[in-house]
Amino acid sequence: MTHRHGSPGNPDVQLDPEVFYVCQSCAACCKWPGDVRLEAHEVIHIAAYLDLTVQEFIDAYTRLRSNRQGLSLIEKPTHECVMLDGNACRIYPVKPDQCTGFPNRWNFPGWRETCQAIPVPVA
Ligand code: SF4
Ligand code: SF4
Repeated sequence: MTHRHGSPGNPDVQLDPEVFYVCQSCAACCKWPGDVRLEAHEVIHIAAYLDLTVQEFIDAYTRLRSNRQGLSLIEKPTHECVMLDGNACRIYPVKPDQCTGFPNRWNFPGWRETCQAIPVPVA
């Protein structure tokens, strides 16, 4: 099955245990509008990676999530993630778990038309 979708709140579940989608680094998911959720430990790690204080990082790069229940990275006027530089992530070694989890642990209806990840059967 290739069209399942779930929420970022299922961090340990691979949606289709028979297939692993291998990312092709097209950056389309980084250009998708919406929240890029940040957990507290991620804020600390990303601030340190950027050589900023936590407050400096929060002020410059975050906003409240759409549900106001935590922080999200901000978007550029084009709706792509503020951390996207060309097709590269400026914080790749410490990118949020939401980013790491797409599309195997969460995705959205119609994601297959956007994402170029290659499905590989899990042995
Ligand atoms: S943090 Fe990096 S991987 Fe995540 S959406 Fe932004 S640019 Fe993409
Ligand atoms: S859209 Fe899919 S293939 Fe492209 S960067 Fe995101 S996960 Fe990788």
